[in-house]
Parts: sequence; C-alpha cells; structure tokens
Amino acid sequence: MVVGEMVEEVDLVVIGAGPGGYTAAVKARELGLKVMLVDKRKLGGGVCLHEGCIPSKSLLHVSHLINMAKEAGEIGVSYPAANIDLDKVREHKNNVIKKLTQGLSGLFKMHKLEYIDGEASFIDDRNIRIDRIGESAIRVKFKNAIIATGSKPSNLPPSIKLVNLNNQSKIMNSTQALELNDIPQKLLVIGAGYIGLELGQVYASLGSSIDIVEFMDSLLPGLDSDLVRPLANKMKGLCNEIMLESLVTQIEEKNDELLVTIQKPDKTTVVKKYDKILVSIGRTPNTSTLGLENLGLELNKSGFINVNEFGQTSLKRIFAIGDVVSNRPMLAHKAMREGHVVAEKLAGLNSAFDNRAIPCVVYTDPEIAWCGLTENEANKANVNFAITKLPFVANGRAQSMANTQGLTKILYDKTSQAIIGCGIVGPSAGELIGIMVLAMEMGCVIEDIANTIFPHPTLSETIMESALTVDNKELSSKVKNAEQILIKKL
Ligand SMILES: Cc1cc2nc3c(=O)[nH]c(=O)nc-3n(C[C@H](O)[C@H](O)[C@H](O)COP(=O)(O)OP(=O)(O)OC[C@H]3O[C@@H](n4cnc5c(N)ncnc54)[C@H](O)[C@@H]3O)c2cc1C
Repeated sequence: MVVGEMVEEVDLVVIGAGPGGYTAAVKARELGLKVMLVDKRKLGGGVCLHEGCIPSKSLLHVSHLINMAKEAGEIGVSYPAANIDLDKVREHKNNVIKKLTQGLSGLFKMHKLEYIDGEASFIDDRNIRIDRIGESAIRVKFKNAIIATGSKPSNLPPSIKLVNLNNQSKIMNSTQALELNDIPQKLLVIGAGYIGLELGQVYASLGSSIDIVEFMDSLLPGLDSDLVRPLANKMKGLCNEIMLESLVTQIEEKNDELLVTIQKPDKTTVVKKYDKILVSIGRTPNTSTLGLENLGLELNKSGFINVNEFGQTSLKRIFAIGDVVSNRPMLAHKAMREGHVVAEKLAGLNSAFDNRAIPCVVYTDPEIAWCGLTENEANKANVNFAITKLPFVANGRAQSMANTQGLTKILYDKTSQAIIGCGIVGPSAGELIGIMVLAMEMGCVIEDIANTIFPHPTLSETIMESALTVDNKELSSKVKNAEQILIKKL
C-alpha cells in the first residue's frame, strides 16, 4: 500500500465525528492534548445529527402536532384536517440539522480542533492512513487512537428473495426514509424496534397507510409488556395492520408496486402490495474498512469491538466508543459519556464508564423511557426485587391533558431498597426519566423518592406517588382502583 507522507504526529487521533467522537475530541482538547478528528463526512455530527436522532425528532415533532390537533376534538377544540407542505416539513428538518452543524463547527474552532475529512484506516497500532476527499492520502502518527466510527443500517438478509427489483429507491433504510422524498400511499415497515416505530408514526401521520411486520411476538421486542401496551394500542389505531411473529420471505417488483410475501405465525403466507418498504431491522458496526486486520484487534462475532470499562480495546493504545463497541445500548448519550471517559483517561484523570443507569427513550406517541434494569431483565438476572407502579390515570396533570394512557413503575432491591430500574410510558416520558437516572446515580433508595417533594400538578408526581405506594396502604388501594380503571380502558 502506497501511503502518503507522514504529515503529522498527534497525541490522539479520533476516527469518526459522531456524538462519541466529537465529544472525546473536544474533551481531549480541553485537557490539553494534541488531537486530530477525522470523518469521511465534510461536517461533524455523525449519524445522530445527520440521519438519526435529530432529523427523526424534528419529523416526530411535526407528527405529534398533527396527532394532537386531531385529538383536540375530544376536549372541544376542532381543527380542519392538516394541510401538509412536504417541502416545508423537509426544510424544517434540514434547518435544524444545519443550525446544529454550524454550532458544532463553531465548537471545533473554539477548541482549535483539527478536523480532517477523509476515510481513515489503520496501518499499524501507531499509524493511520487518511484518504482525504479530493486530495492525496496522508499518514498520521498517533500516541493513542479512538475508534468512533458508529454503525449503519443493516441490509435485508439474504433469506429474503428479491425478484425483478429495478427501482431500489422503493426499499428505504432509515437514512433514506428521513430524506422524506415523498409520502407513499402504502408503506410496509419491516422491524418494530424503536426506529421502525418512530418513522412509522411519522409516515402514518403524514398520510401513509402503514403495515408493520415483526418477527418477534411484540412491538419493541424484549421490553416489558406493560410499558409497550399503551404504544401498541396507539399503533393499532394508526396502522392498517400489525403482523407479529411474521416473516417477509420475498419482495417482487411488478407494475410499479412491491408484492411482499409474508409468512404468518401459522406458516401460511399472504402476498400484500406496497408502494414502498422501510427496512429497520438493526444496525451493523462500521468496522470492515478500518484495516483492523492489520492490528489483530478483538471483535465479537457480529463485528462490534470489545472494550473494557475505560473504553480500551484488546490493544493498549487503541480505544473504541459509541455504536461500534459491543456494549449496548447504541445511543448517542451513551457514546458521549464514553467519549468523556476515554478522553479523561488519556489525559491522566481517574475516569471509568461506571454509570449505573443509561436512559433509553422511544420518542413515539406515547413516549416510552426506561433506565437501569427492566422488569424482564431483573427477572432474568434473578434479582430479589419489588415493583411499585402508578398509572397516569391517577395523575391530575395527565387527566387535565386528557392523556392518561401511561404508567410509571420503579424497581427496587428488596433487601437494600436501592432503586435498580424505572420504566415510564406516557407523555414526556423521555423528559421524566432523567429524574430516575439521577436518582440511580446518587444511589437513592425508594424512600428517598417517596420523601421528595415533586411539583403539583405535574406528570413527575407519578414518580413520587409510585414510590409512596410502597408503605402507604391507603394510597395503594387508590392506585389499585386507578389501575383497574386503566385495565378496563385498555
Ligand atoms: C433513525 C435513527 C434515530 C435515532 N434516534 C436516536 C435518539 O433519539 N437518541 C439517541 O440517543 N440515539 C438515537 N439514534 C442512535 C444514534 O444516532 C447513535 O447511537 C449515535 O449516532 C452513535 O454515535 P457514534 O459517535 O458512535 O457514531 P456515529 O454517529 O455513527 O458517527 C460515526 C461517524 O464515523 C464516520 N466514519 C465511519 N467510518 C469512518 C472511517 N473509516 N473514517 C472516517 N470516518 C468514518 C461516519 O462518517 C460517521 O460520521 C438514532 C439512530 C437512527 C438511525
């Protein structure tokens, strides 16, 4: 391999300028290291900013507005049907990305952070090659490197037969779906994880007729069923059909339509017609073009990089963070925290990824958020735990918002009373969960939550009231009644 002249020697090279990579690079600069940040995109921000968190939330905001206006009729405020200007919706999303990208560039400048756009690969454990966009390749010598190359949408598995597929744009991944080129009349979403459900809700509220097909037996497979139920009910209303325990076996293009063969749980098959398909079946790590074979770096069987609590790989000088590592979940805020930890460690500080709780949020309507252990995970782990729950139907604020389809539940260790997890489904669940992340980090026991004064009337009271039910028999019976009402409603 001919490699350009060595142009520079740095303390730290960070490959990938997504939330993990840019956080690490900025932190390392703050701590005085000489840093180079490399990304094959011209602009920083990674998947999260350009084709993930930010564009999806910008579109979900539009979707929520449409749905709220529809539902306002129930409390006496009626609007005419939404008139959708797709160009403007797209412009809103693109403007958000643009503003945040400019903000990031400003941050890099402020920290005098060297940013190179080009594709990086390892020559050995001291040198990388960067194929710069439109320029010659260069070699950079480093003391340490952080791999923060993230992930990309997984393709359809080879088990799905593709017949006469001429128009590739009919099958979208999440990146293409977020471009919002058009609103297909009939859209099939393959995969009911959070990305499929968020984007499914966006397209449904913009006017598509949606079907969802999922191989497992529920939406958001693996998550506690009581958290999923209110969303599943909402999705039933928004979707034409939800097919669980079902498998796509063939996709054929015919007369400008996609004929999709779906195997049902009883092994019978149906053929359904769609204009487009959104594939959201998981994500694949960006490790294959990094030249890791030159290093002998340890990967797991799916190609993700194994790291210890300091983000260190099997090689002393090489660290990895974010979506590309085998530790779950694949979320931006987890990548950012890992970025901080590695930068601090490399600057000689005493830092480790020892967080007790990582929040996970599904930004659908209703939102679902959880941190620490879910009930399913606690059961599997054989933890001696108890659960305390409060349905939103018992909360004054939820009632005044006419939005009572939700609950808050807290898991705590029966012996130590320490909080080990929390799950919330309902409006603003993603904002509320931060309280419980902090509680877990501070080592709160359930009584701490019960004795904390929460503002009234707010949804956050569901957290306190849930905790109060542990000792207070009277309240507990009130909650039981409320739960009965909720169960009847569902
Ligand atoms: C539709 C969607 C919605 C999402 N919503 C949320 C959400 O609401 N909240 C949340 O927390 N997470 C969300 N995520 C996940 C989130 O985007 C990722 O967890 C996060 O972006 C991971 O950050 P990262 O730094 O590991 O890598 P990434 O953001 O993936 O960035 C990696 C960067 O590395 C670059 N790169 C790759 N290989 C090379 C190479 N060889 N040389 C140079 N550069 C390279 C890429 O160009 C990219 O810019 C969402 C994801 C998707 C797809």
